[in-house]
Amino acid sequence: MTQPVAAQFDASALNVAKFGGTSVADFTAMQNCAKIVLNNPATRVVVVSAAAGVTNLLVELAHKAMTRDEINAVVDKIKQIELNILHALANPSAVEPKLNELFEQLEELAHHEEILHRPDLKDAILSLGERMSSLMFAEVLNQHGGKAENFDARNVLVTDNTFGEAVPQIATIAARCDKLLQPAMAQAIQVTQGFIGADEQGNTTTLGRGGSDYTAALLAEALNAQTYEIWTDVTGVYTTDPRITAAARPLAELSFEEAAEMATFGAKVLHPATMVPAVRKNIRVFVGSSKEPDKGGTWIARDCAHEPHYRAITRRKDQVMVTVKTPKMLYAPGFLQQVFGIIASHNLSVDLVTTSEIAVSMTIDNPPNSVRSKINQETLSELREICEVKVEEGFDLVTVVGNNMHSEAGVSSRIFNALREHNLRMICYGANPHNISFLVNASDSDNVVKALHRDLFES
Ligand code: ADP
Ligand code: ASP
Ligand code: MG
Repeated sequence: MTQPVAAQFDASALNVAKFGGTSVADFTAMQNCAKIVLNNPATRVVVVSAAAGVTNLLVELAHKAMTRDEINAVVDKIKQIELNILHALANPSAVEPKLNELFEQLEELAHHEEILHRPDLKDAILSLGERMSSLMFAEVLNQHGGKAENFDARNVLVTDNTFGEAVPQIATIAARCDKLLQPAMAQAIQVTQGFIGADEQGNTTTLGRGGSDYTAALLAEALNAQTYEIWTDVTGVYTTDPRITAAARPLAELSFEEAAEMATFGAKVLHPATMVPAVRKNIRVFVGSSKEPDKGGTWIARDCAHEPHYRAITRRKDQVMVTVKTPKMLYAPGFLQQVFGIIASHNLSVDLVTTSEIAVSMTIDNPPNSVRSKINQETLSELREICEVKVEEGFDLVTVVGNNMHSEAGVSSRIFNALREHNLRMICYGANPHNISFLVNASDSDNVVKALHRDLFES
């Protein structure tokens, strides 16, 4: 006799599962995910991204000036991706009316006269990808014999109102999860949206690109989950991005610190903030491929069996180097404070810093579609009021992540030896023993990563 689902659910062994864009790209991909969810009775909360490609199309609608026909063409592309999933469902009528409502919102926002100028409207339109995929995935689960419901993440994922890069309110999220999500997940598997939230007034917000990893980690934290699974298109976290070199290989284990460094320094497989909630609540994180779940993956935990000197190499693109220079600096102790004050007032964060007697160089993240970390004319003119400013673009940041990198003889010399033929613009030991970073020309960064990988992992 099968037990009712609620009776099987053991709150002391909760797993939160997150599926990325390629994992929910179409009906076939969604079927793989359904099997993964239903194989593990501990999975009661599922977080999904938008189907692959949909968020990029929504970003176009939110950021690019287009003619009416061009807008309609982009809207149609999105609809087609969703309709292909809908038409593959055994019982499309279960979700069709709701999907049509979302299509109406999509058209209205896409043609809204202020869409290019209002950050709140941008977030409203960006949220639609996750809202559509989660609607459909809940139905795929039902079709596979699960008992699943679509849950609106905005009811629990409360953020501030920094549209585009909203900051989650941890205590409020925990309280709302207790009240709304806990009881719901005792009744049915809850399929919710990654990436989106709402401010206290109920306006839709987003957490920044790739933010679904972060959403699921926040929910795992709020619900006191034991494990958090990230199902993506690679069989775990690799020694480096397998798109850079085919020699990259999956890692069986990673420590929280190593994973947090990798996420911060550009390993796209983990959103930069993913590890923060997991570390706070000591939640073990698994990364694996939804296409090949049997191949296993990477377990990220507080303690590892081995702590090698070199664990992985990451790359973060779109870095700018800003050099501020003034002869006055020699005598003015408040100068640096002023410079960093201006940088901070524009919400920019600095990664590497080098100083000389009269100049300071620093690197700043400058990705194209980001809201916060973008150096702009306003920042530069404020800096120019107090010093000479030089901005150089076209750099990538390459980081070697590992353990005890500063303290043991030979560890960094092996790295420098691997890079002897490359031009390094800046070198920086991390503030902790887990990383050493290099600023290199973007055109050379593939080769830098390959050279490091060859010497540190392939010999
Ligand atoms: P999802 O849509 O599932 O969130 P992402 O595209 O955001 O997937 O992240 C997975 C991708 O991250 C991989 O396809 C891979 O190219 C890239 N990646 C970068 N660094 C690494 C790494 N060290 N290990 C594995 N994948 C990495
Ligand atoms: N759909 C969002 C993006 O493409 C969030 C995510 O996939 O994590 O950025
Ligand atoms: Mg991602």
